[in-house]
Amino acid sequence: MSAEVLAEVRAATPTVWRNPARRDTPAPAGLTLSDVQEADALLRRFAPYLAATFPGPWFEGPNGVEEGVIDSPLTRAPAVRTDLGVEGEVWLKRDDVLPISGSIKARGGIYEVLTLAERLALAAGWAGGDPRRGDHREFGGAELRDLLSRHTVAVGSTGNLGLSIGLMARALGFSAVIHMSAEAREWKKDLLRRLGTRVVEYPGDYGLAVATGRAQARADPGTHFVDDESSPTLFLGYAVAGLRLVDQLEAVSLLPTRANPLHVHLPCGVGGGPGGIVHGLHLALRARGHDTRHLHCWYAEPVAAPCMLLALATGRGAVVSVQDYGLDGVTLADGLAVGRASDLAWSTTAGRVAGAVTVRDDVLLPLLRRLDAAEGVRLEPSALAGLAGMLVLRERGLGDEPGARHLAWATGGSMVPATEMGRWLSA
Ligand SMILES: *Cc1c(COP(=O)(O)O)cnc(C)c1O
Repeated sequence: MSAEVLAEVRAATPTVWRNPARRDTPAPAGLTLSDVQEADALLRRFAPYLAATFPGPWFEGPNGVEEGVIDSPLTRAPAVRTDLGVEGEVWLKRDDVLPISGSIKARGGIYEVLTLAERLALAAGWAGGDPRRGDHREFGGAELRDLLSRHTVAVGSTGNLGLSIGLMARALGFSAVIHMSAEAREWKKDLLRRLGTRVVEYPGDYGLAVATGRAQARADPGTHFVDDESSPTLFLGYAVAGLRLVDQLEAVSLLPTRANPLHVHLPCGVGGGPGGIVHGLHLALRARGHDTRHLHCWYAEPVAAPCMLLALATGRGAVVSVQDYGLDGVTLADGLAVGRASDLAWSTTAGRVAGAVTVRDDVLLPLLRRLDAAEGVRLEPSALAGLAGMLVLRERGLGDEPGARHLAWATGGSMVPATEMGRWLSA
């Protein structure tokens, strides 16, 4: 890490770390293209069950409405482009309206719970035992719910992962225990309690909630712990987004080319969500013969919690924490308030990302209001880190090459209660 980046990290001012070592490495075992395709296939097997269990609206993509498919539209944001004075086209990937739980966490969290449900059902001799022919709508029936009710799903979370997993686990009949870190919002805890989830609160940061949850689950064979710091299953669920995004990019002629490089701006906490997307997108683009050198993926983090930047820049992964650099990890971007990166996410994407950028908290609410005014899109503060990162890059002359286009991942928002959103809009 250069002395300049180090000084900016320690001073908690915006900084950009550019990756000096981009290279196309083979996918690790268990995270290959066919693994991501299998994850996609499992999600599609459950689509009829999900469509019957949760109200829509469902994903409308290049092939029309796909009932039960957990994905989000890719939309152009011309007004915000003008408003922010950005050179190239700006697009939003609208995970804020993702079905079921309204954030990027729906992708990985729900996938891991569904994987567990199918595995337990098959092991118990579920009559629809051939997963290609079994009717997954049976997961809504008493027999399978009764089976799953004998198992517990647990997770440590800053909020949205707990929400996604609690919603899905309880719908399937599982017991659920959510270990919530201090910054998790009250309304998320209240909603989970109403669903019959046990919510355990921690005074400290997210790392403590994960470590405690993991240790408790290890002592109980009936509990499955969804490990946000290291689960390949969770990571594969996120990677499906990258796979499917290629079709969307194709449909609107946004594929990265020499003439039109594509910059993707990803709000990053522990790194599983954005890392999975980076991974899946690279695998899928390469499989279709596209040149990934013109794809530039940037992790965007709060200045107080740049755990992925530190993991990448030091090359030491989850060994380093933001506290080691004198930062407290306290941020308005609650979904990104993480002290250590996921080893799986940083190591899998270290050769692929363009870099990492940090953003100040005090730009998030003004951006939230501008995006609402310009496009009528209401995001939670964490979800604005991508757009904020794009602006920091621009100040440094990055991402404004002729023909460059920008895709900011809008990672959450539609579940936020109106009162809370109202406070942010009028703050
Ligand atoms: C969790 C979260 C992220 C980042 O995902 P990680 O897997 O923690 O990196 C981004 N935005 C929102 C709204 C989130 O809840």
